[in-house]
Amino acid sequence: MKNWLNVSDLHDFSIHNLPYGVFMDGDTPSICMAIGDDILNLRKAAALGIFDGLNIDTSVFQSEILNDFISTGKASWSAFRAFIQNALCDENSAIYANREALLTPQEGAKMLLPLHIGDYTDFYSSIEHATNVGKMFRDPANALLPNWRHIPVGYHGRASSIVVSGTDIKRPSGQTLPPDATAPVYGPTKRLDFELEMAFVVGKSTELGDQVSTTDAEDHIFGMTVFNDWSARDIQKWEYVPLGPFLAKNFASTISPWIVTMEALEPFRCESVKQDPEVLPYLKYEGDKNFDINLEVDLTPEGKSAATICKSNFKYMYWNMAQQLAHHTVNGCNINVGDMMASGTISGKDENSYGSMLELCWGGKKDIALNDGETRKFILDGDTITMRAFCENDSVRVGFGESIGKIVG
Ligand code: MN
Repeated sequence: MKNWLNVSDLHDFSIHNLPYGVFMDGDTPSICMAIGDDILNLRKAAALGIFDGLNIDTSVFQSEILNDFISTGKASWSAFRAFIQNALCDENSAIYANREALLTPQEGAKMLLPLHIGDYTDFYSSIEHATNVGKMFRDPANALLPNWRHIPVGYHGRASSIVVSGTDIKRPSGQTLPPDATAPVYGPTKRLDFELEMAFVVGKSTELGDQVSTTDAEDHIFGMTVFNDWSARDIQKWEYVPLGPFLAKNFASTISPWIVTMEALEPFRCESVKQDPEVLPYLKYEGDKNFDINLEVDLTPEGKSAATICKSNFKYMYWNMAQQLAHHTVNGCNINVGDMMASGTISGKDENSYGSMLELCWGGKKDIALNDGETRKFILDGDTITMRAFCENDSVRVGFGESIGKIVG
């Protein structure tokens, strides 16, 4: 699409994308969009009156977070996106006239956590991941628990420890049971891992007691981001029975700074994996509810070059987002704008598509090859994990940016 910034349709932040974020403009957190290599300052544009003709409360752009804008609703997101797309193609637009004031290079800009995340839920929706973990942690012959194909399994995480890309992560300490030991010990985790996930942002709240159907679910989803659910496998193994993940998971999760809207993902809608056995009626759905999103993970040792250790795809998910949301609310649990719901680790069938080091090193049995002969089983201090996500067809690319985190001791 011809635009006056001459951003290619195959750029991560093409005019077909227009993801939302928050960056630091001097001393002022400012709501913004990514376009090409630049940031478009929406706070400043609103203050200049550029959005006054739109049917939207422009005070939402003076907030330090996206929640108020998201609360304006799906019709408003769509109208605003169309307005910006048109303005970026029109040299008579007010954005063009004010372009020097409104555009800032992304390079060097400080991005902030763009949301108030009231609640965070993590699902476990990749059948390959659940099977791999079941084989390693439990019974290779019966890797999937009996409920797995009937319920989009999940747990409630901690929203407080979700951080934006670029935040250093301190190696967590806790209790573990060393191999062959009879009593636990305390200390830093020896099996620090990532989990390659995507998360969606709730865009429409519900009241306590309400249910969201799979048909209506997408009206409640604003957009998606890359999500690294950092995990301490040795702590997890000792603590997770009977109530599931706790301290092995809640010390940090890292998101990319950009929230890509569902409208931008529309060209990449695809079929889901066929579910067998048939699911209960409230989990049935019509139409394509999955998305073809390429995923990559790099591990970069301190002072060394990056090695890509995983390539996966969001389309491998067994349970889709509409089913996750329908299940989450089937008991009347209410959801709020800004809540984050992560997919669970996204593994594919191939060994290079496993979305965690636990699987890539098969529980510590294999080395993961990096560059220059270096290897890993789990993450060492000084290592940086970079996750990328992008959709691409012959004519259009839509990228999510990167989730980057470095482990410090
Ligand atoms: Mn997870």
